[in-house]
Amino acid sequence: MESKGLLQELLQLPGGNQILKCIQCGTCSGSCPMVDVMDYGPRRLFALAKGGSIKDALNSNTYWVCASCYFCTVRCPRGIKITDIMYALKRLAVKERLFPKGEKTPYLYEAFKETVESYGRLSEAKLMRKFAFKDPVGSVKKGGLGLKLLLKGRLELKVEPLRDLESFKRVVEKAKELERVS
Ligand code: SF4
Ligand code: SF4
Repeated sequence: MESKGLLQELLQLPGGNQILKCIQCGTCSGSCPMVDVMDYGPRRLFALAKGGSIKDALNSNTYWVCASCYFCTVRCPRGIKITDIMYALKRLAVKERLFPKGEKTPYLYEAFKETVESYGRLSEAKLMRKFAFKDPVGSVKKGGLGLKLLLKGRLELKVEPLRDLESFKRVVEKAKELERVS
């Protein structure tokens, strides 16, 4: 998808259109505790996304490294919910498979979402299994840790789904439907 289409898609996601209000003052980047390990600070990230280089923005680690501390959000003079934009970028990146090479967090993000949608709650064992399918090479390397946790009884293999899982799934479907029309 072209940059223009990606930007349009971002603007449709919850919180994504907040990016249009940015005046590039830099307060967010100056306040961010994670900026030193980000490829770009939030200000530059938003400039790239709005300025026709959204693929560069998506291929940066910035929005994956964001710790959702909300410090930037409370300081932004335009009242922009910056953390929501970071979440919108994550969703777009996962949907379009556009994220930095070697970045594992998107796989974890997907595995978490699928596990919760299937069982109505988190199961570490199921999460790890789903994650292993998505990142087999990395998982083989870290397999020893999973085995250790299992042997120490720290991984519950059996997961009890929510008692009323069907109602939960209906709530999730409704939320997705509302999101599509909003
Ligand atoms: S603080 Fe707000 S207005 Fe300023 S650069 Fe960051 S997002 Fe844009
Ligand atoms: S919410 Fe994210 S971008 Fe904002 S200050 Fe915290 S770590 Fe930085």
